Amino acid sequence: MRILITGGAGFIGSHMADHLIAEGHQVIAMDNLVTGDVKNIQHHRSNPNFEYIYHDVSNHIHVTGPLDWVLHFASPASPIDYLQLPIQTLKVGAMGTHNALGLAKAKGAKFVLTSTSEVYGDPLVHPQHEEYWGNVNPVGPRGVYDEAKRYAEALAMAYHRQHSIDVRIVRIFNTYGPRNRVNDGRVVPTFINQALHGEPITVFGEGQQTRSFQYVDDLVAGIRRLMEVPFNKPVNIGNPIELTILEFAKLILRLTNSRSEIIYRPLPQDDPKNRKPDISRAREVLGWEPRVPVEEGLQKTIAWYRELM
Ligand code: UDP
Repeated sequence: MRILITGGAGFIGSHMADHLIAEGHQVIAMDNLVTGDVKNIQHHRSNPNFEYIYHDVSNHIHVTGPLDWVLHFASPASPIDYLQLPIQTLKVGAMGTHNALGLAKAKGAKFVLTSTSEVYGDPLVHPQHEEYWGNVNPVGPRGVYDEAKRYAEALAMAYHRQHSIDVRIVRIFNTYGPRNRVNDGRVVPTFINQALHGEPITVFGEGQQTRSFQYVDDLVAGIRRLMEVPFNKPVNIGNPIELTILEFAKLILRLTNSRSEIIYRPLPQDDPKNRKPDISRAREVLGWEPRVPVEEGLQKTIAWYRELM
């Protein structure tokens, strides 16, 4: 197959590219490198099945030749990134998704939208299943990401209903692994790097908020499986093992053998109090569930950050 990945030089996009290239497909990675990095794809540089195009998908997308799939992964995805890039985040979720869907329509390609657990906002239902409509503050600082992704889902469904585009929507829960930028601000790279440098671990609030972390390989397997199943409604992909952020900080200290102290910083506005995926739909429809235990995935990730140092 010939597959376009928008955000193909990003953390998750580049892992998806690796997986599809290994299966023998042709991959075009498109990225404007706002949060992506060519280092993530440089190992494919001389591969004739791989092409990289520098482009901002919020502008009209042009690709020559046929496409079987458009995988729309492009977006800032870390709270500090979308706080610093609020308009670009809204544009890539809205105009970028519109352009990517238009391209899929023109090429007769199938379409994957990478949506997010943020569509549930600060959820009032726990764990979160796909039929829950969410609790998002549209005018808060996180609204630029949450509402862009909610709009992207609505647009994908409109293209499905009006133009019969075969869309797949994956709602990604917190994901970690190699290539997640050191300074991306998310809790996994931040805590690991603080621990490895002997710097204080910055727990926000009292650390009683919860998250559920999946290793990137599990996510890629879930998305790949969704490409094989003609199911057009959203599917949560995440690891339901839930930890408080304080428990997570202590786990990182143990796995890195670090003596860093834990310090407390103010909780950011609208920080979701609890998050845990209900993955019954993914189990039933895809026959998928996460396989990588949290400690194993974290050890691999810690080893990658150590290498980087
Ligand atoms: N967090 C923290 N310290 C940090 C970075 C994040 O305590 O240095 C917390 C953050 O407040 C949130 C959780 O860790 O409750 C996960 O944050 P992240 O930015 O990874 O993503 P989110 O799940 O909020 O989108």
